[in-house]
Amino acid sequence: MQNRAIAAMFNDIGDMLEIKEESPFRITAYRRAARALEDIGEDVAAIAGRGELLKIPGVGKGTAEKIQEFLQTGTCKYYEELRGSLPAGITTLMSVPEVGPKTAMMLNEKLRITTIEELEKAAKDGLVRKLPRMGAKTEENILKGIALIRRTKERQPIGRVLPQAQEILDTLRGLKDVKEIALAGSLRRMRETIGDVDIVVTSAKADRVMDTFTTMPRVKQVLAKGPTRSSVILDSGVQADVRVVEPESFGAALQYFTGSKDHNVKVRERAVRKGLKINEYGVFRVKDERRVAGKTEEDVYEAVGLPWIPPEVREDQGEIELADRGKLPNLISLKDIHGDLQMHTRWSDGSENVEEMARAAKEHGYEYIAITDHSQSLKFVGGVTIDELRENAKTCKKVSDKVGIAVLLGTECDILPDGRLDYPDEVLKELAVVVCSVHSRFGMSREEMTARIIKAMDNPYVDIIGHPTGRVLGQRDPYEVDMDRLVEAAKRTNTALEINASPDRLDLSDAHARMARERGVRLVISTDAHSRYELRFMEYGIAVARRAWVEPKDVLNTLPLTQLMDHLNAG
Ligand SMILES: [Zn+2]
Repeated sequence: MQNRAIAAMFNDIGDMLEIKEESPFRITAYRRAARALEDIGEDVAAIAGRGELLKIPGVGKGTAEKIQEFLQTGTCKYYEELRGSLPAGITTLMSVPEVGPKTAMMLNEKLRITTIEELEKAAKDGLVRKLPRMGAKTEENILKGIALIRRTKERQPIGRVLPQAQEILDTLRGLKDVKEIALAGSLRRMRETIGDVDIVVTSAKADRVMDTFTTMPRVKQVLAKGPTRSSVILDSGVQADVRVVEPESFGAALQYFTGSKDHNVKVRERAVRKGLKINEYGVFRVKDERRVAGKTEEDVYEAVGLPWIPPEVREDQGEIELADRGKLPNLISLKDIHGDLQMHTRWSDGSENVEEMARAAKEHGYEYIAITDHSQSLKFVGGVTIDELRENAKTCKKVSDKVGIAVLLGTECDILPDGRLDYPDEVLKELAVVVCSVHSRFGMSREEMTARIIKAMDNPYVDIIGHPTGRVLGQRDPYEVDMDRLVEAAKRTNTALEINASPDRLDLSDAHARMARERGVRLVISTDAHSRYELRFMEYGIAVARRAWVEPKDVLNTLPLTQLMDHLNAG
């Protein structure tokens, strides 16, 4: 699939147009198209083949033509011309968070910097702070940004890695001799960032599996190729390993390679106490080496006297002790979700209208959705004015009746720097769902930021705090905030905290979600979808919740509509 390559090109075009101070509408058009291509989950070449590029939300006439050109030639003239018109290295420098287009140009002009390494050196030597409009603080932030992208290179956000792993799984599943196949490793445990992809396979024709795997179009480099294990680097920089095992060892290998290490150490200790030995090949009696289990994971756990433990909780955080007593939590799953309480439409920065979102949500089997476009002060994403809200309420009602799903009019209301909200109470009171979030002044002190958010929670019309720490994985660290006090205030004010399921955010994190759950705070799991394709992100939010041992009863949007409304109105 070329989706990601074309998306990267569109993002670059957006960046370059920004440097050239072109119209914000053109810049947004390219970024929207990039986001759409990353989201659709279908090969863009297939869509182009059907002549349906313009049906992709966010793709217009100009971007559709460029997609066609890229599919035919592997690049696009406009892109090459733009690149040619800028000094070398500008877009590289802009990949560092904190370095915008103007800063990149200045670094290049005044210090002749074209690479990340040169930028790091200049910042360490204190040269950056001497430039106009820069200072010691900016210099420090640039160094932090460089550290962040280096960390990200080693571990990538799950939202980037899972689709690549899925592609490998689909390809290998297509081979007729492949019997069983599964993901293992941190990806199966659904950690928020992933180091590499591990896949376990059973097949009578290991050679065929390995030939296919190591020659997939996305493979950039083959690190090792053998009959039982092969290892490659994908074009995204992610390492992927495939192991072919005997059918009688499949469960043992899956358990072994899923980890975590700490979890497996505990499981091995239990085995030892029972006179057993566990490894990737099976469970064996120590006295006569006789195999007692290994074909399935269930067998492996049973052999050590445990029920099967869901991969997301295999972190040695008490799950083995609970399993031993038959008290594992009843983890939430996708089917428990009745609706999605944060999404955006063209009323602000989404790419589709309410009806399109409602229809897609209905296909997900939901009973309700909340439309939560941005509030008035966020002008750069077309925040909704109070007059517009009145019209939007009527539209939601109409769409509800037409599509047959409850469309609640809500807002993602900005929490202003002083903790006031971006709409007056009389307006908030009328809205069915009030999500409040921080989108500005991320650099406040911990004390100020905590007070800002708690002040919002104290407003009786606020139902949910959206993406409570503001982080963007690999791009922006969380703002400084005292999570302990936020959780306490959420409990006191009966405000729900959001697990934002967008794979770039996953905010709350699993650790914070766990903390909130343990203290009896209600959670919501919302996708923050900006197009219908992003409604799928719910699975990532569910994964975070499962890692936090969240049960259906802990989550507001597992409630049927009438109970949800009772809760929101009581709030
Ligand atoms: Zn937001």
